[in-house]
Amino acid sequence: MPDSSSTITMPEYDLVVIGSGPAGATTARFAAANGARVLLVDKKQELGAPIQCSGAVSHNALEQAGVYPSPEFIHDAIYGFAIYNGKGEKKIIDYRKLKPDEYGTKEGTIPLGYVVDRRRFDRYLATQAERAGAEIWLKTAATGFRVMENGSCEVDLLKFNEPVTIRAKVIVGADGVQSQVGKWAGLKTHIKLSELASCLQFVVDGVETAGLLEIVTGNEWAPGGYAWVFPKGHGYAEIGLGVTRTMCTENAQEYLDRFIKQSFFKERFKNCRILEIQGGGVPLAAPLKIQYADNIVLVGDAARHVNSITGGGIHTALSSGKIAGEFLAQLILSGKPATKTNLKGYQDNWLKAMGNNMWKLYRVKRAIFDTVDVVKRDEQLYATMSGYFSTDSEYKKI
Ligand SMILES: Cc1cc2nc3c(=O)[nH]c(=O)nc-3n(C[C@H](O)[C@H](O)[C@H](O)COP(=O)(O)OP(=O)(O)OC[C@H]3O[C@@H](n4cnc5c(N)ncnc54)[C@H](O)[C@@H]3O)c2cc1C
Repeated sequence: MPDSSSTITMPEYDLVVIGSGPAGATTARFAAANGARVLLVDKKQELGAPIQCSGAVSHNALEQAGVYPSPEFIHDAIYGFAIYNGKGEKKIIDYRKLKPDEYGTKEGTIPLGYVVDRRRFDRYLATQAERAGAEIWLKTAATGFRVMENGSCEVDLLKFNEPVTIRAKVIVGADGVQSQVGKWAGLKTHIKLSELASCLQFVVDGVETAGLLEIVTGNEWAPGGYAWVFPKGHGYAEIGLGVTRTMCTENAQEYLDRFIKQSFFKERFKNCRILEIQGGGVPLAAPLKIQYADNIVLVGDAARHVNSITGGGIHTALSSGKIAGEFLAQLILSGKPATKTNLKGYQDNWLKAMGNNMWKLYRVKRAIFDTVDVVKRDEQLYATMSGYFSTDSEYKKI
């Protein structure tokens, strides 16, 4: 009689993607579309919930990732920016006026970006992956993995709280800012507290907006970050901020409370009614120097693919997911093993497409927040933000 364990057939995939946020769902979609057998798992039973994101993303970011801007997930359209310094002086960068032939509501023009509903957006992205051929398991948490002698892996999952083991050639860690997958592989994923922004936002009624993302800089309101007012559609708005804890004397909630009650916006906010409270951490850190190991690659927040000036991570998650999905499908179909040496190509492609720019942004952010003189630091952040969102910015918008 053969040993019973040797007769158990485990589900086998080319790729298991752990985490179905923008990075994971996009990786799964492009890998499946290019011929790989993909399993996408997420520990949540409802993707995107609870919401921990303001949802601002550029049209360009969606277009690059082949995501049609659908009313299914869009709260509101964005046409530009208002950047404020701490005293309330502002620079309006309204693309409807600056580039009227390209951006606006007239026929033949498009919005510059959108505020999306992350619950519906993440579900939409997962649906795209599923329609491209990926299998999706919700309420399924990855808990560990082992590399086998044949070079593939066994991945331990808890599916509806029941242990299940599957086999895969490559594991994609798309498990967000608190990524465990990188740690399992021995990658240096630790984030210093000085590089982690604590973010808090209120979804409110009773605050007018005008199609602009409003960004308030200044140490007084949000040390090591900025405050924001974003349109949310149907008369709602998001008022929020991100602060770096090591630069703060109070917590994010106290800063947000002060911003609402005491800033130059206090009259505008005086009738606001809070309908939802959302929060989370954003890594304002450098991208990981090494984002791959034997059988493993990291994408999105897990690899610190976040714009460290704006804190935006949707664009970078979509882009890195596309790069990873296409690369991995090609590697697997070529029959080459998923060794560290072979997976390095993913990071090389990512550096060329966007990573070098992200490193540049990180150095700019460091130079600003390492400035000890608060007045100079505030001036630099205001100037950098204004330049970043301007029509001639060397970076992609948002
Ligand atoms: C308050 C706030 C506001 C923000 N606003 C914006 C904004 O306006 N614009 C913008 O571009 N970015 C914004 N961001 C950043 C943005 O939300 C992230 O950068 C983006 O979600 C990263 O996508 P991701 O796919 O890498 O990770 P996530 O979206 O975090 O997805 C990770 C997924 O992995 C799953 N997971 C984790 N561990 C496991 C496991 N062991 N097994 C299975 N599944 C697992 C999680 O359930 C989750 O679904 C904001 C962030 C915060 C906190």
